[in-house]
Amino acid sequence: MTERFDTIVIGTGQAGPSLAVRLATAGRKTAILERKLIGGTCVNTGCIPTKTLIASARAAHVARRGRDFGVVIDGPIGVDMARVKARKDEIVAQSNTGVTNWLKNTPNVTLIEGHGRFESPRTVRVDDRLLEAPEIFINTGGRPTVPKLEGVGDVSFLTSTGMMSVDFLPEHLIVVGASYVGLEFAQMYRRFGSRVTVVEMGQRIVAREDEEVSAAIQAMLEGEGITFRLKAECLKLDQRGSGVGIRVACEDEPRDIEGSHVLLAVGREPNTHDLGLDRAGVKTNTRGYIEVDDELRTSAPGIWALGDVNGRGAFTHTSYNDYEIVAANLLDNDRRRVSDRIPVYALFTDPPLARAGLTEREVRESKRPALSGKMMMTRVGRARERSETQGFMQVLVDAGTKKILGATLLGIEADEAIHCIIDVMAAGQPYTAISRTVHIHPTVAELIPTVLGSLKPLQ
Ligand SMILES: Cc1cc2nc3c(=O)[nH]c(=O)nc-3n(C[C@H](O)[C@H](O)[C@H](O)COP(=O)(O)OP(=O)(O)OC[C@H]3O[C@@H](n4cnc5c(N)ncnc54)[C@H](O)[C@@H]3O)c2cc1C
Repeated sequence: MTERFDTIVIGTGQAGPSLAVRLATAGRKTAILERKLIGGTCVNTGCIPTKTLIASARAAHVARRGRDFGVVIDGPIGVDMARVKARKDEIVAQSNTGVTNWLKNTPNVTLIEGHGRFESPRTVRVDDRLLEAPEIFINTGGRPTVPKLEGVGDVSFLTSTGMMSVDFLPEHLIVVGASYVGLEFAQMYRRFGSRVTVVEMGQRIVAREDEEVSAAIQAMLEGEGITFRLKAECLKLDQRGSGVGIRVACEDEPRDIEGSHVLLAVGREPNTHDLGLDRAGVKTNTRGYIEVDDELRTSAPGIWALGDVNGRGAFTHTSYNDYEIVAANLLDNDRRRVSDRIPVYALFTDPPLARAGLTEREVRESKRPALSGKMMMTRVGRARERSETQGFMQVLVDAGTKKILGATLLGIEADEAIHCIIDVMAAGQPYTAISRTVHIHPTVAELIPTVLGSLKPLQ
């Protein structure tokens, strides 16, 4: 027998639960489906657990630096990995339980645990139940990509998801992939006490950032004892006893690295292959992402796609913003669009990299006259007081309109300080809205008006 709903939400990522509750509260009888962990990637295997682990790693790092601050700790600093994982699991459980209870206790929402698959544009099967609704929202997220490296099928390897079960200290962790996820794990495990080698096929780490950013982050991580092997070619994995070997070069020596564990962190792919999208008439692009318009409608009328699965963002905040856009358009008669969103994100190394809008390379490519202001973190009082002076801040401004085009803050508390820039960009105001504002002393954000005071034509 077909069960009829007003709306079906597939997946409980960062858009689905909020949308389900909003639609149900507006009177729509809503079913929300989850095949695995309620709350999705961010809650269970992404942002929350990694930032919790990073906090443990930072505690170890600060303890080791105790003497720099006049703090004497007699004896070596040890890390209890079982306790580190238990703390992570406790914090994850709070969020997971919170979302679960929220969905279970909201009138008009039915939480169904199982894998959803389209049978037609209006029907979704979950095991032996057939659900039907005139409106269906896909929030199925993504999963780690397992690269087709030679030997990958012959070795035991970890992905970012597998790392969540680690409650021991790998002797030597090899991280394949020097991008956001890989670098966060690399620094975290180095600080826990592992030897860490990062293997990257490209010429430099975090290659979508400006070269100066890549170089500064690499130097920062090398300073903590992480080894990088860039331009790695002819990658091949093989099992060596309980460890793993990786060939990193066709010719150059050393051609080979041996580690106790390998983490494959080469990107993510969308969960679209097992959704029955062809039966619903929902089109995907060549990389499997669902094609959507500016209001997140798919090619099939009555079906929307939100979050990582639509390829328009890869972050919790972009997925949540997708929910806000869809809810505003459907329920509030308030036209909101994806293209109104400013690209913002952070890489949570310590210190973090925070980004808004265009990079310097992108500004140069746009060929528009621009101004650039820059300052090293050594000049920031907060950074000096904390003895954490690595990094720099750069803001790029359109020479004509005086509006901010982009900002890169690499340094202590950059992930918080950048929000004064993001808000002015979103308000469509010129940079003078910041440079004429009094900021609190002594903070990182207080120096952003000074950075803007140093604007010069971008050569
Ligand atoms: C290690 C790591 C660290 C990260 N750190 C950050 C960070 O610091 N900041 C940040 O902004 N982002 C971070 N991200 C990215 C962030 O987790 C995602 O962008 C975010 O979770 C949004 O995902 P989503 O809403 O698209 O869906 P997801 O959170 O991926 O959830 C999708 C859900 O749908 C379920 N599902 C899939 N298919 C089906 C089906 N057919 N039927 C039923 N259920 C289904 C899945 O089981 C999953 O629970 C991180 C990611 C990783 C991997």
